[in-house]
Amino acid sequence: MPAPYDLSRAELEGLLAGERPFRLRQVWDNLHTRVLRPEEMTDLPATLRASLAEALPGALCQVSRQSADDGQTVKWLWALHDGAQVESVLMHYPDRVTVCVSTQAGCAMACQFCATGQAGFQRHLSAGEIVEQVAEAMRAARPRRLTNVVFMGMGEPLANYDRVFSAIERLHGEMGLSARHLTLSTVGVVPGIRRLAQESLPVNLAVSLHAANDEKRDVLVPLNRRYPLAVLAEACAAYVEATHRRLSIEWAMIHDVNDQRADVAELAQFARPLGAHVNLIPLNPTPGYAVRGSTARRVREFRDQLESLGVNTTVRMTRGAAIDAACGQLAAAFTAT
Ligand code: SAH
Repeated sequence: MPAPYDLSRAELEGLLAGERPFRLRQVWDNLHTRVLRPEEMTDLPATLRASLAEALPGALCQVSRQSADDGQTVKWLWALHDGAQVESVLMHYPDRVTVCVSTQAGCAMACQFCATGQAGFQRHLSAGEIVEQVAEAMRAARPRRLTNVVFMGMGEPLANYDRVFSAIERLHGEMGLSARHLTLSTVGVVPGIRRLAQESLPVNLAVSLHAANDEKRDVLVPLNRRYPLAVLAEACAAYVEATHRRLSIEWAMIHDVNDQRADVAELAQFARPLGAHVNLIPLNPTPGYAVRGSTARRVREFRDQLESLGVNTTVRMTRGAAIDAACGQLAAAFTAT
């Protein structure tokens, strides 16, 4: 039995065979618009509710839920049907509510400083397993409305293209999230970027750059050996041209590794022609990487230097560090008991 949000409309129709025809639309809306679990669908007869609850168990089983920042940040650890585990993080801001979702259990990209990368790859998530993380966040955010989804949790979304894009289509088409509020973050899977550029649904693209010379990036982000910076820049330019979406560049600031003046110059050279916005993320500590994040002062200087070279720059507010929910810290395999 597929997960509730993996079910197509036709499959749900099959499940409701013998029921009155309007039930299909009612249950579909209950799942997607009202974001209810079958047992909460009190507008259904009790017997139907019970049979649906049995036929459509949730794909995510909560292992733990932790909160930080006065309850403004919530991290879940979910177990999937086969025991694989993933995390998602909900963040409340004054002007928006964002969930960061996982797209794979583990990750094969092996970026040195990333906790998920250090743990290795387990498997792809299904579209329904991705959508259900958003559904859970929508439920938890009430009475506020979840406004943004970022595909920046565990995994490399473009290495799981079909399922991730099918999740994007469902979030946009059925759950009322606009494409401009969906952001996919990639380490630079060039064929995936090129394919995404052709889709009729243009989402925001974030590229995790971290170094703007090949020698350095080859080490920090091994995928760079396959798709070096010049090739990546071309794909990014094509993406911006095709979608008219603003490109973001993510840069985890690592003490003495990528926070020097030469790094500013290289980054500006990469970012400026693309009109990209740079997000600086002070490196969060992870078990497998013994290097520190840049000092707060260095981060500010780096930002000012970039700005003076004409690059729009934001220092990303760190959320959830106390519960290992910050960027690059998601690693269910380490934290699970
Ligand atoms: N695979 C995708 C999405 C997951 S990572 C990608 O790489 O973009 C989400 C973001 O967190 C990326 O920008 C990643 O580079 C960053 N990140 C990874 N480890 C980090 C760490 N230890 N500190 C700060 N940011 C980190």
